[in-house]
Amino acid sequence: MQDCIFCKIVNGDLPAKIIYQDEEIIAFDDIHPIAPIHKLIVPRKHIATLNDLSSSSNDKNLISNLMLVAQKLASEFNIDKSGYRVLVNCNKDSGQLIYHLHLHLLGGRPLAFAC
Ligand code: AMP
Ligand code: ZN
Repeated sequence: MQDCIFCKIVNGDLPAKIIYQDEEIIAFDDIHPIAPIHKLIVPRKHIATLNDLSSSSNDKNLISNLMLVAQKLASEFNIDKSGYRVLVNCNKDSGQLIYHLHLHLLGGRPLAFAC
């Protein structure tokens, strides 16, 4: 996807502080962190929103692998015991800004529930 910021990061055309990568997933620091730990976990494949995931076994594997990367990074960044939040925004009312599916991993301070 030509104009997608996260595709550009995946392709190495835009810099990012990459903290994890494998054949299907990349994770990097959020450029505008809202918590001491704020990482983004992103499939390499362009999927615009959570609505665009299918029930195929490929997508089922992908979404569980994204969650397992969140779990692994929470442990690596030492927020697994204190606690953390994983969230996905979907479409306008959630405030989704980048239309390439991603998980936010947030922690490092007590997180209020905002809605
Ligand atoms: P969302 O509202 O769920 O689409 O969140 C998009 C997130 O991407 C926001 O938290 C932004 O701060 C973050 N972001 C935007 N551009 C970049 C970038 N070039 N590198 C890292 N994070 C970014
Ligand atoms: Zn993309």
